[in-house]
Amino acid sequence: MAAPVERFLALWGEIANLGHARALSAWDQETHMPRAGGAARARLSATLAGVRHARLVAPELGAAVERCAEEAEPGSVLAAQVREARRILRRVTRLPERLVREKAAAASHGHEAWSAARAGKDFALFRPALARLLALAREEADLLAEPGQSRYEVLLDEREPGAKEPAVAALLGELARELAPLVHAAGASGRRPDPAAARGDFPPERQLAFAREVAERFGFDFARGRLDPAPHPFCTGIARDDVRLTWRADAGDFRPALFGILHETGHGLYEQNLPEEWEHTPIGEAVSLGVHESQSRLWENLVARSRAFWSWALPRLHAHFPGARHVTLARLLPLLHTSEPSLNRVEADQGTYDLHVCVRFELERALISGALEVGDLPAAWDAAYARTLGLRPRDAAEGVLQDIHWSMGAFGYFPTYTLGNLIAAQLYAAARRELGDLDAAFARGEFQPLHAWLREKIHRHGSFHPAAELVERATGRPLASADYLAQRKADAAEYYGAG
Ligand code: ZN
Repeated sequence: MAAPVERFLALWGEIANLGHARALSAWDQETHMPRAGGAARARLSATLAGVRHARLVAPELGAAVERCAEEAEPGSVLAAQVREARRILRRVTRLPERLVREKAAAASHGHEAWSAARAGKDFALFRPALARLLALAREEADLLAEPGQSRYEVLLDEREPGAKEPAVAALLGELARELAPLVHAAGASGRRPDPAAARGDFPPERQLAFAREVAERFGFDFARGRLDPAPHPFCTGIARDDVRLTWRADAGDFRPALFGILHETGHGLYEQNLPEEWEHTPIGEAVSLGVHESQSRLWENLVARSRAFWSWALPRLHAHFPGARHVTLARLLPLLHTSEPSLNRVEADQGTYDLHVCVRFELERALISGALEVGDLPAAWDAAYARTLGLRPRDAAEGVLQDIHWSMGAFGYFPTYTLGNLIAAQLYAAARRELGDLDAAFARGEFQPLHAWLREKIHRHGSFHPAAELVERATGRPLASADYLAQRKADAAEYYGAG
């Protein structure tokens, strides 16, 4: 008979492959599937999900994991494998199949109700579906909670394993307090960056060529990855050697395609550099959504919005678009560091983005705890925007109905975006301390030193260390908001003369 560890990893490898088949099917659905294929694809996804679930709950797997737990030395690779496997198995074994089915049905119905409500600008059409999704999320949280864990923390833990609600609340509270005066100062400065600095005639296929050139420079390996058009940009790791990115373009503005592709490139670099020796095992995966998002935001926002990057990239842009001479460093850089309150999170600029997340975090915690009734959500949303960003939505579509997350029952997701910003800033500060003058390298179009540093400090560890420990090991300190706030303040000073 095979040793327990071999049995455990063999069973897990098959489960990982079933997950990859689902990911491939979902990618195809967004990129190539004919429109009429939806019903057949839904059946295929349901079958794959069912087979994967049956494999996960099989007693043989649980027994193999527990036998490995008895053998594993503390701090060993096997101990980490057991920790991650137990975390994943706890979810699937504690949630009854009825709840999983009800959640899937409520999410599908919720998405339809939300689309209709958004089109009709009428929250009432979404209200019953949201109430149902919240009830199921509470039920799920109660089943999964460890002693002392709040319901919200359980939901957060799904995306950001190990995250503690009070710690995340403290970080986001500090951000809300510190960012508000910066946004105010930017507004009071009277400076308004000119969007014409990025507009013009930008044929999408040339935008693709330009962005691919940059992504390749950042280190994305197109022999082990693809880039295809889709309605929404995303990254999906089918395998370490098969990482798929998507893009979409605005023919009149080069920013959405370029920054969208470079964001997904950051995710893709993480996926392509996960540990080869642990592929298809529990610790071969990315460690958390926040850490994943830190990789995309680091490349998109910290590298690709910097003056040093553009001193290399602008001549490349002009080479791809000879008619774009009006795009100059002096006009473009302030535009890339805009700080203007707006109502939409997805379109929000760097200066104000986290305030959108703070609003959602506050509201979804209150919804989950029951402190806020679903019927009172639109008024609470509008009040929070008025208080935080000084703006009031004209209708529910512009306000409380703008995001897809709650319609699919994804509560506890939003904070991971801001955690991504904080982790990115702390990693970037540490890389600059260790690697010296990165700006000089960027200005020559050299990004390999930064890529290698991230591979060494983050990518190659997979989920061997829990997320918080990984960040602390990489940067020498626990996650804090200091590096991110320092950067926000520096931007406000440089582009708005604030502070
Ligand atoms: Zn992302």
